[in-house]
Formats: sequence, C-alpha cells, structure tokens
Amino acid sequence: MSHQNLESLDVEAIREEFPILEREFDGQQVVYLDNAATTQTPDAVVDAMSEYYRTYNANVHRGIHHLSQEASIRYEEAHDRVAEFIGADGREEIVFTKNTTEAENLLAYSWGLNELEPGDTVVLTEMEHHASLVTWQQVAKRTGADVAYVRVDDDGRLDMDHARELIDDETAIVSAVHVSNTLGTVNPVSELTELAHDHGALAFIDGAQAVPNRPVDVGEIDADFYAFSGHKMAGPTGIGVLYGKEALFEELEPYLYGGGMIRKVTFEESTWADLPWKFEPGTPPIAEAVGLHAAIDWLEDLGMDRIRQHEEELAAYAYDQLAAEGDVDLYGPEGGPDRGGLVSFNLEGVHAHDLTSILNDHTIAVRAGDHCTQPLHDKLGVPASTRASFYVYNTREEVDKLVAALDDARQLFA
Ligand code: PMP
Repeated sequence: MSHQNLESLDVEAIREEFPILEREFDGQQVVYLDNAATTQTPDAVVDAMSEYYRTYNANVHRGIHHLSQEASIRYEEAHDRVAEFIGADGREEIVFTKNTTEAENLLAYSWGLNELEPGDTVVLTEMEHHASLVTWQQVAKRTGADVAYVRVDDDGRLDMDHARELIDDETAIVSAVHVSNTLGTVNPVSELTELAHDHGALAFIDGAQAVPNRPVDVGEIDADFYAFSGHKMAGPTGIGVLYGKEALFEELEPYLYGGGMIRKVTFEESTWADLPWKFEPGTPPIAEAVGLHAAIDWLEDLGMDRIRQHEEELAAYAYDQLAAEGDVDLYGPEGGPDRGGLVSFNLEGVHAHDLTSILNDHTIAVRAGDHCTQPLHDKLGVPASTRASFYVYNTREEVDKLVAALDDARQLFA
C-alpha cells in the first residue's frame, strides 16, 4: 500500500495540543482509548469556536448587520470546506445536521417514507450501527418495505457473494457502514454502491468511523448519500453532515420545516429555499460549523494518509498484543488495511463491563457494551465487548498499559 511508507505523525507534538490528555485521576494520567465514541478536541478547534463567540456571534442568513453577515459567511464557508474535504461538488451537497444519526433520519424521512412501498427492499448489512438499522427498520414497517441483511462472515468481513445475491431489482436502497464501529472492518463500499446502481437502487454509506481516519472521496465511492459526525473527527459535538448528490437532494422533500428553509410563505402555501438550506430549518449549529471547519484544517494539516497509517499501525499492534495473550477473544479482521483504528475483544471469563471498570481503575478509558450493534453481538454470541479505539494522539505505550492491566482482571476473576 502506498501509504505505508509515509513519515509518521509527531505524536508527542500532537499531544501538546490536547490539554485534556494531561488529566490525572488518582495520580494516573488518562489513557484515552474511546475515540470511536468521541475524539478529543485540539486547541485549534476550541480557539476557533471561542473566537466565534467572542468576536462574531450572531444568527445567520437573516441579518443585515455586520456581525450577522460575518457569521453567515463563516457558516456557509464551513459547508464549502466540508465539500472540498470529502470530494463533493459544492455546498449544495452538504447539509449540516446534529450528528450521523440525524443525517440518517433525514434521509429515511425525506426519501424513505415518501418513496418506499411494499415490494421494495432495503438492503443493510449485519454490522450496521443502530443509527441506520433501527431507522430503516422503522421506515420499512411504516411503508411495507422489506429489510434484508448482507451476512458478516467468520472473519468479520461482508460476504460479498451474499450481497450479490441480495441486491436485485427489488432493492430500493443499500445502506452500509463504511468502517464498522464494532468489528473495525473496512467495507468495500465502492463495490456496494456499484451493485446498488447496477440494479437501479440508491446507495447510502455511514461514514461515521471512516471520515475521521482515512481519506474519503464520495465521488470515487459514488455514494448517493454519505453521513458522518464532527465529534468523532477532532471537531465539536452537535454537528453532523449528510452529503447527497445535488440532483437527488433537489428532488427530496424536507422533513423538518420552519424558518430559514423557505423561499416564500403565504397563509396557504410555502416554497423552499435553495440547497442546502432547504434541509436546515431554524438556527443551525453555527459555532459547531466553525469548529468543524477548524477540525478539517487541522486534520488535513496532519495529512489524512498519515492519520490512516498511524491508526492502522496502532490497531494492528493492539490486535497482535491482545491475540498473543492467549485468553482474549478478538472480533473482526486481523490488523491491516481491512481494519480501521479500533479493536473489540473479550477477556475469557470476565464480563466486558467488569473489565472496563477495572481498566478505569488504571485510568484507561475504553468502552464496554454492544456499541449500538446488538444484533451483531447476538450473532457473535456475546452480550457485550470491550472496545479500544485509537486516534492521532495515541501511542504503543498506551496499548501496552491496556494489555498489562488485563492481569488485574485475571487475578480478580480467576
Ligand atoms: N454510525 C456509526 C458507524 C457510528 O460509529 C456511530 C457512533 N457510534 C454512529 C453511526 C452514530 O453517530 P452519532 O452518535 O454521532 O449520531
């Protein structure tokens, strides 16, 4: 892979931009390995949001005064920056939402409820996050459409033969996760979008775990819709993105109504504003958009290829170290280009919640639970797993601390 010989990230320098990583609990410095849930925010992003509140805080779109004009320009520019970052054609294709979940609901309400009918199939994968799984399940129930799931094989990869069987002329949309937040699997999303298009179906990709850690080009993937969240990519909470091809967005009905999204309103009728504003009613996440813009600048400065390389290396290291323990069950593909920067596992004989609580005694932050993939955990035959997930500021030493702390759990539960 071309990206495997890049200069490494200067992790020590990066860490200095995250004061939170200096925090100590009971005299132990925090080891933050819960990045798939939310990443930490560098000073550059906090400063950009602080500058907004300190110097040009105002509502957007409506104002004639200077502050509102400045806030509006910066808010609109944030759309342009996101478009450029993911290879979209322009701001018309970038809708800001609250998070990935709301982006998926927007699509499900605007497109799903209006377009799906009995006989249609929504094709998901067994590794979907509840954000899409539950949403499509509900929309299917209300419209009479069917839901089908592409199987995950024993290695934690999608069974693409099964995908080719399932996706047919009845398929209305294929909704697939780009990088699984539980298995770490990087899915062949371009192949899935091509299969969908071959059968006249749309393709939605959940990129919540992909955009933060690898270069993503929605045009190359040929996704019709693509979603992700600011808070998982060094940005703030409260902002997510739904990308959509302009021609498709043009045809969709809004699902939230109100001010800011209209062109003309009479007592009888209303018409909608241009894209993307027709999908952004009410006061939008302005400070968050400024923060997301700053986060993208910050990430691109590090280099998305180098970020991917760093996380692949850490995940492969963690996978190998944990596998070498002999009593750790790991889920998903081995470390390498098929795995994003996270590893989910169980220590034999210890419940994931107990293990995670023991790791917390060492001030190691990981996540225990089903990671919003309950049906996948059912399939794996476990109620929960412990997930360590990495970002640009994590080190091999932190992985070593995690592995060493497993001994405490063994002693307690042996
Ligand atoms: N999809 C995936 C793959 C995720 O990992 C997450 C977050 N865990 C989501 C969707 C939902 O993201 P958010 O909570 O920001 O809406």
